[in-house]
Amino acid sequence: SDFGSLTLPSFLLRNISLMNYSKPTPIQRHAVPLALAGCDLMCCAQTGSGKTAAFLIPVCSSLSSPAAGGTTVGQPGAAKPRAVIMAPTRELASQIELEAQKLTNRSPLRSVAVYGGADQRKQARELALGVDLIVATPGRLNDFVERGLVELRGCRFLVLDEADRMLDMGFEPQIRRIVRTMPAAAERHTLLFSATFPAPIQQLAKEFLRPYVWIGV
Ligand code: AMP
Repeated sequence: SDFGSLTLPSFLLRNISLMNYSKPTPIQRHAVPLALAGCDLMCCAQTGSGKTAAFLIPVCSSLSSPAAGGTTVGQPGAAKPRAVIMAPTRELASQIELEAQKLTNRSPLRSVAVYGGADQRKQARELALGVDLIVATPGRLNDFVERGLVELRGCRFLVLDEADRMLDMGFEPQIRRIVRTMPAAAERHTLLFSATFPAPIQQLAKEFLRPYVWIGV
């Protein structure tokens, strides 16, 4: 089967084909239909497997459905993204954001990247213009949440990419602080990606996901 057989918004099908993704990769073939059906997923997948599109396609599809609606809760002036994607490094976050730009091209969806080592005020100005999908490293996102620049109480879609690397880099406290400000697992759609599945990742999966489907490629 290919992307055309999935129920996706037309802008996504158009952009997927403009990106020359004619056939889903194995992780996409397994993860995309389950995520579109609303399942929480624990995916063991390496870089190069096509994992980025495996989570971005369901995120973009979900955000574009009219039922998703907007979020109005929280502090006025704070950016209120409807999906959060966390990644360990600024390189990875900006790669994910670039792919998100391509997938959301000529759609109303807006993605913004937020990571350390870059101008905070510039990122804050980008957020203030509106954001549906925020791609972030945990340290910088936690700063923005604590300063009230980002409000996640209405954010019902969470993706953790390269979760094992984020834990290796010591980001667990920031990740936990961010996730505590979001709706509980039962009220949220969560996708967890990791190259390996050691005990600390199993523990995160247990806490952050609803009963989930495990996918290994
Ligand atoms: P990733 O594992 O997400 O870093 O993706 C690895 C590479 O595969 C990236 O350069 C993507 O642009 C490319 N890619 C992802 N999905 C597909 C697909 N279905 N067909 C062809 N290339 C793809």
